[in-house]
Amino acid sequence: MISYQVIEHGKPLQKVMQETPKPKGTEVLVRITRSGVCHSDLHIWDGYFDLGGGKRFYMKDRGCVPPFTMGHEPFGIVEAFGANAKGVKTGQKRIVFPWIGCGKCPVCRDGLDNYCVAMRSVGVMRPGAYSTHLLVPHPRYLVDASGVDEAFAATLACSGVTAYSAVSKVAKLNARDWVAVIGCGGVGLMAVSVLKAKGIRNVVACDVDQGKLAAASKLGAKLTLDTRAPDATQKLQALAGGYLAAAIDFVGMPATAMLGLGALRKGGRYVLCGLYGGELVHPLPAFVQRVISLVGSYVGNLQELKEVVALAKKKKLKPSPLDTRPAERANDALEDLKAGRVLGRVVLDFEGLEA
Ligand SMILES: [Zn+2]
Ligand SMILES: [Zn+2]
Repeated sequence: MISYQVIEHGKPLQKVMQETPKPKGTEVLVRITRSGVCHSDLHIWDGYFDLGGGKRFYMKDRGCVPPFTMGHEPFGIVEAFGANAKGVKTGQKRIVFPWIGCGKCPVCRDGLDNYCVAMRSVGVMRPGAYSTHLLVPHPRYLVDASGVDEAFAATLACSGVTAYSAVSKVAKLNARDWVAVIGCGGVGLMAVSVLKAKGIRNVVACDVDQGKLAAASKLGAKLTLDTRAPDATQKLQALAGGYLAAAIDFVGMPATAMLGLGALRKGGRYVLCGLYGGELVHPLPAFVQRVISLVGSYVGNLQELKEVVALAKKKKLKPSPLDTRPAERANDALEDLKAGRVLGRVVLDFEGLEA
């Protein structure tokens, strides 16, 4: 098999040829056809997350040490499986759910793999989908997406399920309420699409890039805000008529957190999803007096992936712009993403690669 691997953090990925793994027990070998490129791959590539105040969280401290293969938006064809893998057939086209937990602890037993403290995520803690082949530990992590475009289906594994899970953390809305989507990259645009699919119409998209705001409008955002305005918080409050019930932040930097928290109505909820980094300094009494809350949202669970795929199958979920490129251009894709030149999602095409 051919993989594009991180050999050294922050340096171009290298094409590596290895023996194709043989599935054992419950394992399934998937031949990758499409593999989405996610913004969080940039952090994994760099090898750390910025915790603010000069502090960093290093991937190597969680056992993620080069050489390794990134890629957590896998779509492909079942090629082989172990003797104990039930309910799976060769030739089936499937999304691979990447947010895999230990499978044994109470949260995993409840189907909340993404709350497991010993996660073994695809493309993070185990080899990922920037590869012609991917070994999946159990057939339960394969999701049928028949009828959905393959590149779009791949992106549902992270950007789709992450947006869906974040939107599900928005509390019940009244008729006047608005929701702000802060950051209209691949995941933010999917959130606009999920909100629309769920019938939530009062959506204001926020970004610093006019092209991304235009894409958000096309997907159903009623209003947009260029957050470079010095009085962006007041502008956001005004656009929502004082009824901003939720702000979902797909950037996650101090400025976007202050924007989201600052613009909420009383009782509002700020859902933090982006991992850009930094730290938050905010007056504590405001949480009490304004009855606001801050909730984190990390990827999503298998059931949520199935639900977002169901929306896509029913054509209720519009895809964000997709740019499919040959797998050989994996490094360009990462560079373009880093420079903010990607509108929507880049998806790598592995079909042309022979291994
Ligand atoms: Zn991702
Ligand atoms: Zn677990």
